[in-house]
Amino acid sequence: MVSYPDTQLFIDGQWGPAAAGGALPVVNPSTGERIGSLARAEVADLDRALAAAERGFQVWRRTSAFERAKIMRRAAALMRERVEQIAPLMTMEQGKPLAEARIETALSADIIDWLAGEAPRAYGRVIPPRAEHVMQTVVREPVGPVAAFAPWNFPINQIVRKISAALAAGCSIIAKGPEETPASPAALVQAFHDAGVPPGVINLVYGDPATISSYLIPHPVIRKITFTGSTAVGKKLAGLAGEHMKRVTMELGGHAPAIVFEDADLDKAVTLLAASKFRNAGQVCVSPTRFLVQESVYDRFVEDFAAAARAIKVGDGLAEGTTMGPLANARRVQAMEALVQDSVQKGAQLVAGGQRIGNAGNFFQPTVLSRVPLDARCMTEEPFGPVALFRPFSKMDDLIAEANRLPYGLAAYAYTRSAETAHAVSTRVESGMISINHAGLGVPETPFGGIKDSGYGSEGGSEAIDAYLITKFVTQA
Ligand code: NAD
Repeated sequence: MVSYPDTQLFIDGQWGPAAAGGALPVVNPSTGERIGSLARAEVADLDRALAAAERGFQVWRRTSAFERAKIMRRAAALMRERVEQIAPLMTMEQGKPLAEARIETALSADIIDWLAGEAPRAYGRVIPPRAEHVMQTVVREPVGPVAAFAPWNFPINQIVRKISAALAAGCSIIAKGPEETPASPAALVQAFHDAGVPPGVINLVYGDPATISSYLIPHPVIRKITFTGSTAVGKKLAGLAGEHMKRVTMELGGHAPAIVFEDADLDKAVTLLAASKFRNAGQVCVSPTRFLVQESVYDRFVEDFAAAARAIKVGDGLAEGTTMGPLANARRVQAMEALVQDSVQKGAQLVAGGQRIGNAGNFFQPTVLSRVPLDARCMTEEPFGPVALFRPFSKMDDLIAEANRLPYGLAAYAYTRSAETAHAVSTRVESGMISINHAGLGVPETPFGGIKDSGYGSEGGSEAIDAYLITKFVTQA
């Protein structure tokens, strides 16, 4: 059995307490019990991290892309070797079933490997000149020290995308890790350190999110901001970054439409969409949320989906056979209760779930609501929990209007056997990512990001490194 560690700050290649000695508790969401603590950074710690990141940047930018990639690949190998030590920590602090924690830990290695491969491919170009003897080149250079803010829903996979892209580009980084789930991202940073990343290149801090972001974002050492979290917070941070002319990547909320047409393979759609909906207890930015089902197959589909929801085994993520853990914090349980109550009051039918489970821990039943009226709060607010909202549709134009109704545009899903219908969905739905007839989002080599209020920039694919590079034009006679 792995024991849960206390987490310290990682600054300039060393773990240590906060200068003022402050600490925060870490709670297991399955039991509500305190399992550890983490150091809480104050401005003095941030100043040390900034100085370290400035020095680290000078070292790392001069390290060849080939060497950077070699070190990153070693870190990836260490993450693969350490899955059985790290995954239980993630389950203890975040709640997700151990199988999901193992997948997340192993996938982080694939993300590191992908971005390691991008490091030596950060090509520039040569542009034909207008005059003889002139050489026009375009080079890509690292933007500089990065401030990154990562959330608790995927404690490793959110932060690893930011750290790996920064490292591949030659940037140093100060990452604010998720306070509720600190130990597994700390294990990731340890793997990078053990792999040979020089001191100062990666710094990991925790504390009061607003104190840290309001200090780091305007700070002159920081050249780039990246944030994953809610749209409300993202808008504030992007505004602050704008005031200080800092480059920004924003990976924000979503409210994904999941569209099921009458000609779809309905059994496959139920299986894949239910698995996607209840993965990580629905606390996923790309989680399918508004299920828009063609009227002719609506009742059957809702019933089959509700049966899949009822079959989910909710429990402690470390227990054998658990397929859905608790919500990560008590705030989410209260939010689920309020959203379900509001929907039912406004006329939605509760087909499955709808209640919290027990009094210890943050367990909530997989929930299915049918014929949810548009004025229900959850049809506009991101539920970020195990709640599936169903509405029937009959005409394509009405469907597209509903799919595009919200200011979000992160993910969308569709199931149909018609190539024509699939094409209509892929061209008319406003979304950064669309997955048709399978669950295909989130692999390292494909773009990952939203449009509209879901943010900007991409944290996957060959686009991922772009946000960490500047373009410099050099013309020489
Ligand atoms: P929240 O809005 O308080 O926080 C969301 C995240 O932003 C957290 O990681 C938090 O530490 C961070 N944060 C909050 N204020 C900040 C600030 N001033 N500066 C820097 N970081 C700050 O909400 P919450 O209760 O923790 O999470 C619930 C909501 O957050 C959900 O409804 C969901 O929309 C969103 N969320 C989205 C993702 C995602 O993957 N896009 C992940 C986690 C949470």
